[in-house]
Amino acid sequence: MPSGSTRSSVFYAPYPSYAKKASGSQIEDVDGNRRIDYCYNFTSLIMGHQHPAVTKAIRNQLENGTVFGAPTELEVIHSSTLKSRMRSLDKVRYTVSGTEACMFAVRLARAFTNKKKIAKFEGGYHGTSDFASVSVHPNSPGTVKKIAAVVDTAGLLPEIVENTIVMPFNDFDTTSSIVRKYRNSLACIIVEPIMRGISPLRDFLPSMRELADELDIPLVFDEVITGFRISPGGAQEKYRVRPDLTVMGKIIGGGFPIGAIGGREDIMSMMAQGSEFPRPSGSKVPHAGTFNAHPITLAAGLATLKELTADVYKELDQSAEEIRTSLTKIISDLGVNVQCTGVGSLFDVVFTGKRIIDYKSHHTGNLLLRRCFDLDLLNRGVFMPPTHFGCTSAVTKHEEIDTSLQAMKDTLTLLLPLARNKK
Ligand code: PMP
Repeated sequence: MPSGSTRSSVFYAPYPSYAKKASGSQIEDVDGNRRIDYCYNFTSLIMGHQHPAVTKAIRNQLENGTVFGAPTELEVIHSSTLKSRMRSLDKVRYTVSGTEACMFAVRLARAFTNKKKIAKFEGGYHGTSDFASVSVHPNSPGTVKKIAAVVDTAGLLPEIVENTIVMPFNDFDTTSSIVRKYRNSLACIIVEPIMRGISPLRDFLPSMRELADELDIPLVFDEVITGFRISPGGAQEKYRVRPDLTVMGKIIGGGFPIGAIGGREDIMSMMAQGSEFPRPSGSKVPHAGTFNAHPITLAAGLATLKELTADVYKELDQSAEEIRTSLTKIISDLGVNVQCTGVGSLFDVVFTGKRIIDYKSHHTGNLLLRRCFDLDLLNRGVFMPPTHFGCTSAVTKHEEIDTSLQAMKDTLTLLLPLARNKK
């Protein structure tokens, strides 16, 4: 395996610690070190590891077999559950990853509008397909006057970059003028309602909705992280904005690979096939996949969604709020140049004094210090996702938060000579 693992996001120098097992809120590596988990496979395990109800659902489903070349009742029940929580979902289709779901959302939008270009936000992550590999981690963020599409990987065709328009998150005026400039060629606008753990400014998403309505451009919310984590109906419920299409993933698979696309009937129906016998006519946007709507995944996802009651959301948010508030106090007492940001059960630690509202301001964070922070915390029994925002789960315990805050304080004290507030 190049670099000894199989996922860019889990690698860090000199080498990552390899996981062996996990239960509840703790993860153990192959050397037997146990750590409090704030990664939860990059926010997917909202009920923690091996939640009894989820494990039971998986075991029960295993008794019936693993996967079939036929639809199952589970996908009917699971998709109805999604729809009951997220009103914008007239129709739903499953994929095996968020990457694939984003790719299909964009393909559907292109097919529906017969237009080529996609508008995304600088720093926005929509998986690893071609369109999504533009301006995710640009080294030189754009300025308000000029924001360029930058490739994130070798191997992209030049057309991909030419057909991707990049905009600054939380800057509606600039975004609006860019969208208006390309209005006749835009197939969709895709946005993470909360990007890199950064809250949308109050009017940002509603203004995007109005703009998309005015220009008749489909608005796609990528809720792979926020869907069913930020509220029972996702970020679209919290911010009261109805997208045309929504991309989902992570939580809805209960710890197994999944993605889903859902939304407006007229757009989603491009995937529908005719009922002609003996061979149904093809759909405009064919969508197949050997492991789509995998029964084990859906059983685990359904059990997870069932556990996610209003009270659980309250506790989830409270535990991350406790981290944000206490860490902010620690930071202020130490006079260290770092912030703890985030929303709901998501929290981030960014080594900058700048107000964080978009990729550009987030990018002012000192990555070396953050890397040192993560590594030192590993030695103190706390697992933060490498240079990524963390999250709490429904089983994160108060004592663990106290322990983690003390560890973070000790780590920041160690980093003080490098990260002292210059003001
Ligand atoms: N969109 C967002 C917002 C994500 O956070 C991710 C995964 N981190 C994806 C898409 C891609 O999902 P997957 O890793 O399942 O392909």
